[in-house]
Amino acid sequence: MTSRIAIIGGGFSGVMTAANLARLARQPIRVTIINTQRPTGRGVAYGTRRTEHLLNVAARNMSAFPDQPDHFLQWLRTRSDYDAVPTHELRERFIPRMVYGDYLLSIAHHYLQTPDGLTSTKVEFREDTVTDIEPNGEMHLQSGGRLTADRIVLACGNEIPAALPGAESLTAHPAWVGNPWESWHQRLPAHGGSVVLLGAGLTTVDAVLTLRALGWHGAIHAISRHGWLPHAHFRGVEYPNFPPAEVDLAELGLTKLLALMEEHCARLRDLGANPAIIVDKMRPHTQRIWQRLSLDDRLTFASKWAARWNVLRHRIAPEIHAQVTSAQLTGQLEVHAANIVRLEAANTRVRVHLSDGPPVTGDLVINATGPQSRFSATRSGLLQNLLQRGLITSDDMDMGVRVAPDHIAIDSTGQYSSLLLALGPLLKGTLWETVAVPELRGQARRVAETLLGQPPTLEAEEAVMEYMI
Ligand SMILES: Cc1cc2nc3c(=O)[nH]c(=O)nc-3n(C[C@H](O)[C@H](O)[C@H](O)COP(=O)(O)OP(=O)(O)OC[C@H]3O[C@@H](n4cnc5c(N)ncnc54)[C@H](O)[C@@H]3O)c2cc1C
Repeated sequence: MTSRIAIIGGGFSGVMTAANLARLARQPIRVTIINTQRPTGRGVAYGTRRTEHLLNVAARNMSAFPDQPDHFLQWLRTRSDYDAVPTHELRERFIPRMVYGDYLLSIAHHYLQTPDGLTSTKVEFREDTVTDIEPNGEMHLQSGGRLTADRIVLACGNEIPAALPGAESLTAHPAWVGNPWESWHQRLPAHGGSVVLLGAGLTTVDAVLTLRALGWHGAIHAISRHGWLPHAHFRGVEYPNFPPAEVDLAELGLTKLLALMEEHCARLRDLGANPAIIVDKMRPHTQRIWQRLSLDDRLTFASKWAARWNVLRHRIAPEIHAQVTSAQLTGQLEVHAANIVRLEAANTRVRVHLSDGPPVTGDLVINATGPQSRFSATRSGLLQNLLQRGLITSDDMDMGVRVAPDHIAIDSTGQYSSLLLALGPLLKGTLWETVAVPELRGQARRVAETLLGQPPTLEAEEAVMEYMI
């Protein structure tokens, strides 16, 4: 009997799981991808139509296939716009994210939409929201329909930002944007007005770039606990001393690991080099280190060190960084270091009360605080229902779905699910480093192998590949 596989989510994780199924399947399977809100194939990150939004990973490390490291570069070579760019330069380029979305769609066309069967995998796309799943594999769709599958992959992507105090009364307020990935450009105030960005991470950077690209001259405020903006990527120096050959980073525990990192950061500073090289050099090992840390160590890291880690880890293209710096230097962008205490409507505007300093009021206030991290409070109706049914359970950090190494979900009784698998940002508590393509391409392949009963062909670390800039 043909097995029926459903994939919930049509972003990178969902589409690449299906593409790997099509590549690896030896017998006929039927795959249905159910996706909502974002264009299938592109997802949240690559669905942008704005050319100023660039990838934050260099082209050479954005292949969608872990076993074909140059696949994206070779695809870029098929586009006339990159004809004149020498290969060594193209490898280091930060390409517009919408072009990466085109790349994913071309993969989908090649592997998933070949009617006469390049592969024996039949793929159907459904635009709908899955609201619940019965233990027998019957999915409830928002449109009212039902769909049944033997195995179901949760590839639902990032959560929207957590609700902030006072935001519940702003839902319909014209100056409030609760989901930063929705289009807000049509609601821009006049040039004398102000836009307040809650958060100072990559989504805030996206918004600053867009405001500048639109030629908007008003005041921009960004508010975050530490007031740190993302750093720029830089060309690293050779530094073979880290990790030291005799040390297994995963065996150190947090205190010794942090001391070792501090020591090497200091050495790099003495050499006049950027200490963030250490974070890059840890990238292929981060998941293994995370999994070996005790729960106490992981909780300590998440509460005390994660903010500092994130600004070094989630860096941006130098040309983007230059624009953000210029917005600060010209006084258009002001960054406030404070906690957000409460939001309230102030006629047509929204006022943000801070732990430190006077309130900041905006004609448009955008919640760019990053995906909500407490999984048990997920705002996805589907995930809430699955938690309530006990078909999935939170990982021990309460950051996502508890899974086994082969991506099979573990239910509330501790049993391996015979129905559900998960990948992508839902695995944050299990793997920590699990949101970007260098990790997700390996996961998509591994999920396909698990579904097909094939042994894993690549270690997760090999899929991440060389990460030095
Ligand atoms: C703005 C932004 C920029 C980024 N830039 C980069 C980058 O440059 N390089 C990089 O490597 N990574 C980047 N990332 C990281 C990014 O998370 C991954 O690269 C990747 O796009 C994640 O894909 P995904 O399929 O897991 O999730 P998503 O792209 O979020 O796709 C999930 C899809 O599932 C759908 N869905 C969710 N629930 C349901 C449901 N119940 N029923 C039906 N459909 C559902 C959603 O609507 C969405 O379409 C970026 C992320 C963001 C948010």
